Amino acid sequence: MNKLAIHGGEPSIKTEPKELFLWPIITEEDEKAVLDVLHARTMSGTEITKQFEREMAAWLGVDYALGYCNGTAALLGAMYAAGIGAGDEIICPSMTYWASAAPALSLGAAVNFAEIEEESLCIDPDDIEHRIGPRTKAIMVVHYAAHPCDMDRILPIARKHGLVVIEDASHAQGSKYKGRACGALGDISVMSLMTAKAFAIGEAGMLFTNNRSMFERAISFGFYERTGSASEFFSKDNQLTDPELMKFAGVPVGGYKHRMHQMSSAVGRVQLKHYDRRIAEIDKAMRYFWDCLADLPHLSPHICDYSPDAQGRASSMGGWYYAQGRFDHRAYPGGSLAKLCEALRAEGVSVCSTIKNGPLHLHPVFNELDLFRLGKPSMIAFAERDLRQARGSLPHAESVAEYSFSVPWFKHFDKPAIELYAEAFGKVFSQIDRLL
Ligand SMILES: *Cc1c(COP(=O)(O)O)cnc(C)c1O
Repeated sequence: MNKLAIHGGEPSIKTEPKELFLWPIITEEDEKAVLDVLHARTMSGTEITKQFEREMAAWLGVDYALGYCNGTAALLGAMYAAGIGAGDEIICPSMTYWASAAPALSLGAAVNFAEIEEESLCIDPDDIEHRIGPRTKAIMVVHYAAHPCDMDRILPIARKHGLVVIEDASHAQGSKYKGRACGALGDISVMSLMTAKAFAIGEAGMLFTNNRSMFERAISFGFYERTGSASEFFSKDNQLTDPELMKFAGVPVGGYKHRMHQMSSAVGRVQLKHYDRRIAEIDKAMRYFWDCLADLPHLSPHICDYSPDAQGRASSMGGWYYAQGRFDHRAYPGGSLAKLCEALRAEGVSVCSTIKNGPLHLHPVFNELDLFRLGKPSMIAFAERDLRQARGSLPHAESVAEYSFSVPWFKHFDKPAIELYAEAFGKVFSQIDRLL
C-alpha cells in the first residue's frame, strides 16, 4: 500500500497548481475599470456604485440594492432597517461568521443562538419556533458555505409570528433554493463582496430588499448623501417617502458612513458580467471532484439535495464558497478530523482544515462584553430575559470542527488536476484505520 506522506511516504501532489485556485479572475477589463476611477478622481463618488446597484438588483431579481463599504456594515444596516432596537432579540445560527450576529449588540439587541443541521451547516428549522418571545424581531438565516437554508420551512414560521427574515447571503452569491435566488428569499438580505468570497471585488457589501420602507431606513442610517436627494430606484418622486426619516436628512441617523469605494464597485460591474459563467465552471469542477470521491468511506459532500419545486426547479450551490466535506465523526470519535486534515495537507492538499466559524454562543462577546458600560453584559443590558447558553446546549454547532472541513475549491474544470486531488483523498481515506 502507498505509504502516507504524514508517515514519511511520497506526497500525492508535489506542486499545487496555483492557477486552479486563483480567485477572483482579474483581467485587463478589471484593471481598466479601476484605473478609470483613479484617473477620474471619483474614488469617493457614487455614480458607478449606483450603476452597480441597479445591475445587481436586476441580476438577483429584487427591487432595491444598496452598496456598502463591507458586508458587516451592510448587516448592521439591515438590522436597523428591520426595526431592531434596544431590548429586541434576533434568532441566528450559532455556527457562522461573527458578523451575522455581533452588529445586533451595538443596536442594544440580544442574540438567541440556534442549532445548525449537520448536513446543511445551516440553521435547523426545528430549533427556531420555541425560541420566539415577545421581543423577537427577526430571524437571521445564513446560507452557509453556499448551501441554501430550508426557506420553505423557515418562512412560514416567520410569517406566523410576524418576524422579519434577514438573509446573510455572503457565502451564497448565485446559489439557488428550488430555482429561486438566495438573497431574494426573505425580507431583506446582505452579501459580503470582500476578496475571499465567491463574488469578490474588494472590501464591499450589498443590501437587497423589495421593501421600500426598509430600504429607506437603511439609507437614512448610513448614507447621509442620499437622504433627501435623488435615488435611481425612486422614479417618480426621487425622495424618501417617510417624513420621519426626511426630518433627519443630511446627517445619518446611525452616525455611520456606509458608502462603497468606487474602485470596488467598478470591479464589481466587470465581475458581474462574467460571474454566472465563471461559477458554472466552479460548479462543474466541484461536482466532478465529488463524483470522483463517491466511493470513499466516511466522507460525503456538503451539497444541497432539496427536492425540486412544483415546476421542477432545482437547488444549487452557486460559487461553492468555502467548499466543505463532511466526515463521519461518529465512526471515529475524539478529534480525528484534525488528524485527517493534517494527513491531507501532508499529501499536498494545503487547503484542508477544520471549520473555523462559531460556535458563537460560547464566545465572551456574547456572554460578558459590556459594550455600553452599563455594568452588565450587553446580551442582558436591555433584555427581558437572559438568552445566554452554556456549553452543551447546541451540540451540532459546538462540534462542527469534528465533522466539517474545507476541501479544494476548484475554479476551473481541469480534469487531470482534479483527479490528482481525488487520488490524494483516496490515499488518505483508504488508510483511515491505520491513520486514526
Ligand atoms: C464575510 C462574511 C461577512 C462579513 O462581511 P465583510 O465584508 O467581511 O464585512 C458576514 N457574514 C458572513 C457569513 C461572512 O462570511
